Amino acid sequence: MTQKREIVLHIGFDDTDSLKGSCTTHLATKIIEQIFNRVTFIDYPRLIRNNPNVPWKTRGNGAIGLSIKAKEGEIIELTSEIKSLIESYYQPDENTNPGLVVIKDEVPEIIKQFSKRALIEVISISEAKEIASKYCFSHFFIGNGRGLIGGLAAIGNTLDPLKEDFTYEILTYRLPENYGTKRRLEEETVYVMDSKLSPEVFNNIDEETNKILICPAGPDPVFYGIRGEEADKLLEAMYIVKSKEPLDSFCIFRTNQGTDQHFNYADHQIEDFRVFNGIIRITNKPRALIGGHIILQGKIEQSEKLVDLAAFEPSKSFKRKINNLLPNDRILAYGGVKYKKEFKNYTIQLEKCEVLTISNHYVESSPYCPKCSKRMTSAGRNKGHKCKNCGFKDSNTQKIKTKIDREIQTELLIPPAQAQRHLVKPHRRYSVKRKKSIEFIENWWKKYPK
Ligand code: ATP
Repeated sequence: MTQKREIVLHIGFDDTDSLKGSCTTHLATKIIEQIFNRVTFIDYPRLIRNNPNVPWKTRGNGAIGLSIKAKEGEIIELTSEIKSLIESYYQPDENTNPGLVVIKDEVPEIIKQFSKRALIEVISISEAKEIASKYCFSHFFIGNGRGLIGGLAAIGNTLDPLKEDFTYEILTYRLPENYGTKRRLEEETVYVMDSKLSPEVFNNIDEETNKILICPAGPDPVFYGIRGEEADKLLEAMYIVKSKEPLDSFCIFRTNQGTDQHFNYADHQIEDFRVFNGIIRITNKPRALIGGHIILQGKIEQSEKLVDLAAFEPSKSFKRKINNLLPNDRILAYGGVKYKKEFKNYTIQLEKCEVLTISNHYVESSPYCPKCSKRMTSAGRNKGHKCKNCGFKDSNTQKIKTKIDREIQTELLIPPAQAQRHLVKPHRRYSVKRKKSIEFIENWWKKYPK
């Protein structure tokens, strides 16, 4: 009887890759390939991006969650197969600490709460180990166990369509013999796909440089990824984009990319590596640092704490806009908190910003001469003005105040696509209606025959 009964399993894993190769999403496709015929997937694999400020991430702090139904009598075997796959796949490196967690039935509330904190805080390995031992049907780790954090977060962050915004990404993978070589893509087909399917797809092309963004640069197995609103449109997109090398496989992931999910749970607390969301009144004029970065200061309205704000050079138009802020302007700042001992204040590295209030600023100048219309000069402190041209003098004249035309308005500022972090919601998504359900298409994954 137990052999036949089906059980829901939630499987989370993370930290299997290093900059030398591999990718946790690719491991997900290997796992899917191995178990697909024996289980039922009840959701797309979820690619969950966690706190982008943790210092030990390889790239985008992504973890994977799988939700399946499996025969009760097979779950021990399945778990041990997945464990073996992780062991044989992961890239040994001092910074690679794989973790696997498996939950039966309902995801406990404590893991859901854990996943929200994983978006915005730094969570300790000991806490993850404790939760894994207490609430998981099975867990496993290599190294220091840090991967358990992402694994638990990927299970807990269920991206419930009634509560959370979500997007999809289709990832295509290369044949192993092509790893490390230049990715060969028919570039014009990416532009065709983007103009045909936009705004259903986003961040394929940088809006300021026209650069194609879908291919990663490193030696990892990903060929390209296309992000979008619906899975069927991503399949369509994949068939439009032509590659000059044969593909190994593709897989569609449901994800929190492009949703601002981390900002939705963040607040104004200042702690190293935390995600920040709070109102700031600017106190100093911006200044440029070597390398073109912009730095300015402000006070957090809710706490009166003084902080530095940084906008980095690659954010181009965003950084130029930030450079136009002046004292007493108010912004809703979104970013990551960093502490550096050489600076007095904590720094908020801006990822996005809403300009709430633009303050009035004036320049003062001497009045014109009423006799000859030339500009007068000051006659000394509280002595009015005199005209050097015709000798006219008037001790009662005041300086003229002219309001400065500000090159910034109350507006939402987001860096261009190539400088955006994975979780940031791009302008293009603001016009898209939020999905309330998951359309589970049939061909969401495929391994091509050799
Ligand atoms: P990729 O995006 O290429 O898969 P990555 O950027 O996800 O790589 P990892 O190698 O997975 O980087 O490393 C991130 C590590 O940080 C993982 O061990 C993960 O468990 C851990 N982690 C994730 N979120 C948090 C958090 N909020 N606090 C502490 N550790 C975290």
